[in-house]
Amino acid sequence: MENKKYVIAMDQGTTSSRAILFNERGEIVSMVQHEFRQIFPQPGWVEHDPMEIWSTQMGVTMEAMQKIDAKSDEIAAIGITNQRETTVVWDAETGRPVYNAIVWQCRRTADMIDRMKEEGWEEKIKEKTGLVLDAYFSASKIAWILDNVPGAREAAEAGKLRFGTVDSWLIWNLTDGAVHATDYTNASRTMLFDIHKLCWDREILDYFGIPESMLPEVKPSSCIFGDTEKFGGAIPIAGAAGDQQSALFGQCGFESGDVKSTYGTGGFLLMNTGHDAVRSKQGLLTTIAASDGERVNYALEGSVFVAGAAIQWLRDEMRMIRTSPQSEEYCRAVPDTDGVYVVPAFSGMGAPYWQQYARGTIVGLTRGVTKDHFIRATVESLAYQTNDLIAAMKDEACLEINSLKVDGGASANDFLMQFQSDISNVKIERPMCVETTALGAAYLAGLAVGYWKSKEDIKQNWQREKEFVPSIDDERRRRLLKGWRRAVKCAVYWASEDNEDD
Ligand code: ADP
Repeated sequence: MENKKYVIAMDQGTTSSRAILFNERGEIVSMVQHEFRQIFPQPGWVEHDPMEIWSTQMGVTMEAMQKIDAKSDEIAAIGITNQRETTVVWDAETGRPVYNAIVWQCRRTADMIDRMKEEGWEEKIKEKTGLVLDAYFSASKIAWILDNVPGAREAAEAGKLRFGTVDSWLIWNLTDGAVHATDYTNASRTMLFDIHKLCWDREILDYFGIPESMLPEVKPSSCIFGDTEKFGGAIPIAGAAGDQQSALFGQCGFESGDVKSTYGTGGFLLMNTGHDAVRSKQGLLTTIAASDGERVNYALEGSVFVAGAAIQWLRDEMRMIRTSPQSEEYCRAVPDTDGVYVVPAFSGMGAPYWQQYARGTIVGLTRGVTKDHFIRATVESLAYQTNDLIAAMKDEACLEINSLKVDGGASANDFLMQFQSDISNVKIERPMCVETTALGAAYLAGLAVGYWKSKEDIKQNWQREKEFVPSIDDERRRRLLKGWRRAVKCAVYWASEDNEDD
């Protein structure tokens, strides 16, 4: 490993492809990012061009290497992390996609999923895959391509097509079609994978009419998938994981009870539950966590649909702030929200409420309420929603949360982090390196090739930038949370059609 200076993380996200070179201390030495086209062929439909995903990812990787004049023999390994669930189907012979990538956000298969619900598949899907039956996951997207692209089903049945999530698509291209593989975390988001038996599920495949010959081999997140010759000399591709699982790994969330919370456009909370796959009754997802051994770890996952997006709404629609960071000044200008709650249920509410028709609600207005209060209540809503997930996870996993590791754009807001710590009564730790998604992929790859010796080695790299500890008493916390619960009830009540007194 002497001449190996760096590990490359390919971070293939929903709106951009990025490449980051990390050194042994887990520090960023070079980073390049490139956005690519979002394709909206119809309302509710979202696609990407798989060739553009590939070309932008190649482009940023080469540029990031060139920027510091890194040569292929200085790269110990490549790790891949990717937007999850997004579905690519391609021709095994030519390597050409038969259709655009259908993106996780795409709702085109909602009817197919409704039919499955009527046929009573919900419990079985939950039991086998750990997921809530939904169009979000890859399964129905693959079926849609086979049903709608002329000749696709025949070609698939003749063994001529391949399916992959974005990690597989990149690995296939990086190895010139020699390797068709994915990792456990990505497989666990397809809704085709039995997370307990760790194999593709025949019964679900049959339902969707997906031939097994299309599917990638499933491997541990940290292992050598194959070599790529695309950057001058052979470099091992040695890690792959879906973005959220990669971030948990990048935050050193290796042990049961470790939790990370991401405050991006949406929010994601993941809790490592060790070797136990905890089955949720409150609508959290059970999923496979990235780990470095052969044995898989599981995680509970919950998401907040509108997190940073509520801050964007304050900026772009309400025009109350010019920049997102500015929200913090307004929050600090008042001692509290004066009893105002904003519930940003713009597109329904997820776990633990699962009210798809709930709508955004503002309660508690009086004549004295100002813009400061309003902004503060909106910022606080990110913390309340995250707290609902924390409470559900604590309850279901029967694990205490000792500390919460945070990342994502809005985690830079100190007011928000302090408020989260206060209402959740938990210590919050914000790392120096907030590029945790890419870092996780780098760690997975580096561990597989011995660039890092062990997870203990890696833990030395995790450095705290700032810590937030609870500063309010139980009574105040109880009152604040009670108000939030009542506000949520209003958001749900408003949307239900058959309220008695209407
Ligand atoms: P994504 O990866 O989902 O695109 P990011 O992790 O880049 O998101 O975070 C961007 C989000 O964070 C935006 O919604 C933005 O409004 C919000 N944000 C960024 N900085 C702050 C801040 N200081 N306070 C509150 N929200 C912020």
